Amino acid sequence: MSIHPPKFGFTMLGSGSSGNASVIHGPEGSLLLDAGFSAAEMRRRMDRVHVDSASIRAILITHAHNDHVNKCGCARFANDLGIPVYLVPETIRDLREKNISIPEKTILFEPGSVFDLCGIHIEPFNVSHDVAAVGFTFSTHGRKIGYATDLGFVSSLAKARLRGCDLLVLESNYDPKTLRTSNRPLYVKRRIASNIGHLSNDDAMKALEELLAPNTKHLILAHISRQCNDRSLVAELAEARLAELNRQDVMFCAASRDTPLDTICLED
Ligand SMILES: [Zn+2]
Ligand SMILES: [Zn+2]
Repeated sequence: MSIHPPKFGFTMLGSGSSGNASVIHGPEGSLLLDAGFSAAEMRRRMDRVHVDSASIRAILITHAHNDHVNKCGCARFANDLGIPVYLVPETIRDLREKNISIPEKTILFEPGSVFDLCGIHIEPFNVSHDVAAVGFTFSTHGRKIGYATDLGFVSSLAKARLRGCDLLVLESNYDPKTLRTSNRPLYVKRRIASNIGHLSNDDAMKALEELLAPNTKHLILAHISRQCNDRSLVAELAEARLAELNRQDVMFCAASRDTPLDTICLED
């Protein structure tokens, strides 16, 4: 089945502590954002939602954790297509330290820089995590996508960058009570809940008030923990929060680690 790729759009292939990958569709090709599954699994997921893997022109990496850079999958996917992988200097260093395969073509960027790929304007910005990590905004023809997972808190920088998005992808990682009562080691619980860990459901819901703009049409809450959270709980909280903010016009989705979401088109 051949489906015309959107001029600007977003496909979440999967998101959670076991793997993250999404596709940003632009006027001149597509970008893979994080490569946290095996190359075969990323292709399988693309097939499932009718994304042509040959349309991918580059991979952008948020940070070096395994659920964002699969041990072999990222390099294999990039090398098979002969495409470059964009990452910050600290990430390539972290990957080398962890003996993760380095792709043949890498291009370094700095958070705070801006660059264009596939007709998409890209702005990476620092987020607070326990390794060097970035969020991104992608824009073209006056439409904007914001993407931030793996952040201990929503800093004023992240708020400034993520404001005014037509589509916002934000982490809603854990339910604080479930995390507290889980059988995870104390140091892991502390790391997750710290300001260099992950965003709780409460933090994400709170941030929505400032992040949702009149033009925001789509919200995806992502990186939902398998052990310390639940998609239906996130959906319930988001629906209540959107009602409270009088924003029932925003289309909401809770990302799944297992199943890709249908492509969201942002063109007119
Ligand atoms: Zn992660
Ligand atoms: Zn991480």
